[in-house]
Amino acid sequence: MSSLEELVEKVKARGAKRVLVQLPEGLITRSRELEEKLSGEGIQSYVSLDPCYGACDLRDCEAKRLECDLLVHVGHSDFGVKSSVPVLYYEWFFDWDPVRILEKNLEKLPEKMGLVSSVNYLDSLAIVREHLENRGKTCFLAGQILGCDVSEALKIEKMVDCYLYVGSGAFHPLGLALKTKKPVFSLNPDKQILGKVDPDLFLRQREAAKALAGDCSSFGILVSTKPGQIQTEKILNVKKKLESEGKKAFIFAMDCITPEKLLGLNLDCYINCACPRIAIENRTSFQKPILNPDEITF
Ligand code: SF4
Repeated sequence: MSSLEELVEKVKARGAKRVLVQLPEGLITRSRELEEKLSGEGIQSYVSLDPCYGACDLRDCEAKRLECDLLVHVGHSDFGVKSSVPVLYYEWFFDWDPVRILEKNLEKLPEKMGLVSSVNYLDSLAIVREHLENRGKTCFLAGQILGCDVSEALKIEKMVDCYLYVGSGAFHPLGLALKTKKPVFSLNPDKQILGKVDPDLFLRQREAAKALAGDCSSFGILVSTKPGQIQTEKILNVKKKLESEGKKAFIFAMDCITPEKLLGLNLDCYINCACPRIAIENRTSFQKPILNPDEITF
């Protein structure tokens, strides 16, 4: 299990004198405690209050401006985003016992399962697997999935009857349910429940947006400046494709993409080239249809 004490030891071991810390939402309440512990070790710290949903969102430029010698990124694992200052990733694992909920819900689960989780609950997968196999189920371990990358899970799709996600919230299991035809179950340690994930509403919203986009003539291509979300080639390909269909296309860059920032643009439709989940969970918050590049069908 992870702890602030262990985190401070890791920062100390890196010899850092001044750090910028990025905490996930659930740990912001402990930022004062963390600052006190770091300062007790002679390390000056800033805690970033900009929201941080993934390791795509490294605040290295801010760390540099604040003259920090280390960026401490808590709650997500390194997936290779380049940074202009050294980064300490501290994944933050939660410890819990899933056996009671599994036992209560055993009959809901089909025979062959693919086990997946967010990084924070990776340690629980071995316990889940052992318990289910002792109860006669067959488990295949796919490991970690991200909200934008469920490729590890899809590799075992043909071998399983369903997936079982272990972790908090709906974000990760919904991402998987939108990419597979197999049922996805979620074992939620916060709510202490096991339930089936239903992607139907989001699929219907996607189909409606696709249908509307076909009739649109002017498009805004939305790009985030978060370092792990910049995909220049993809952005230019989208522009090229739209223009080859006779559409007008304009590129806009910002940090967080929110509907309010787009209000004055007077365009018919948006193509989201940033985190794909912006156009899934938040689709109906935008006043115009918004699609991810892989949803363009004209
Ligand atoms: S792009 Fe989106 S889903 Fe992927 S890591 Fe970043 S915030 Fe998470």
